[in-house]
Amino acid sequence: LAAPARPTATGPGRTRDGHPVGLLANIGTVADAERAASYDGEGVGLFRTEFLFLNRADRPDVAEQTAIYTRVFELFGGRPVTVRTLDAGSDKPIAFLQLQPEENPALGVRGIRLATTDRAHLVDQLTALGHAQRATAVRLKVMAPMVSTAEEARDFVLTARAAGLTEVGVMVEVPAAALRATDLLAEVDFVSIGTNDLSQYTFAADRMVSGLGNLLDPWQPALLDLVATVGSAAQAVAKPVGVCGEAAADPLFAAVLVGLGITSLSMAAPALQGVRDQLAVLPRSLCQEMASAARQATSAGAAREAALGLAESVR
Ligand code: PEP
Ligand code: MG
Repeated sequence: LAAPARPTATGPGRTRDGHPVGLLANIGTVADAERAASYDGEGVGLFRTEFLFLNRADRPDVAEQTAIYTRVFELFGGRPVTVRTLDAGSDKPIAFLQLQPEENPALGVRGIRLATTDRAHLVDQLTALGHAQRATAVRLKVMAPMVSTAEEARDFVLTARAAGLTEVGVMVEVPAAALRATDLLAEVDFVSIGTNDLSQYTFAADRMVSGLGNLLDPWQPALLDLVATVGSAAQAVAKPVGVCGEAAADPLFAAVLVGLGITSLSMAAPALQGVRDQLAVLPRSLCQEMASAARQATSAGAAREAALGLAESVR
């Protein structure tokens, strides 16, 4: 017998008991933005801007960047769009940044660290974002990648505010940032956890190496502990905390994230409906039980089983 079809949830994300969970799209190009805007999402939780900078000899100037950001923002009306500033390093060919070759690019000058060697690119990008914000109805949120310390967060916030940007955050994708989430949150308006890199750096496991899948499994209890640390720190100061790594697209894992205190989830747009449907049938208290059961497990597989068993109890 086929399982009875579940009713399809509509509208903003929420748990069965009405606790809101923002459901947002990840985008990486203008074409992605066009596709994502046609889905029933609440906005953009991660706009990866690397496409603007890669594979070109010259620096995109403020006018060129403003035009592209404006086009993207117009697609989302007054919905929030969270733009991540350039996340590149010596493994990515950014001709105009003159990056030095590095033995370990994942541990090198990448993400926000580029701002220390070439500040102009960050200032130009933030200036263009400010122009595009003023030209549209967008609710712009801007965040920096690969932030490790509260000092880096403070510097980014000051630079972004100088460009007229009001909602400023950082990504938490380095274990040091997760461990000191309270310090980071004192500097910013919101944080967004990048589980792809947070797994890579927590487990010392290159995310590009397919043989390391078990270490990179987001159900690993050590990763859940770091997410919980950030979730609790954000809850304590009532600031938003998103997850924008690929793991947010797994409906069961999304429920655990909600149980860990995450307030929004950002994913490839086609995954939104599955997550919306899953959350709609689970009360928030059950998401919290799922999260604590998963954290008590001692392997990724056991963590998933524990969460699944509880989710199935509501059927
Ligand atoms: C992440 O690291 O989880 C993330 C969302 O950023 P990216 O995948 O672009 O590194
Ligand atoms: Mg990342």
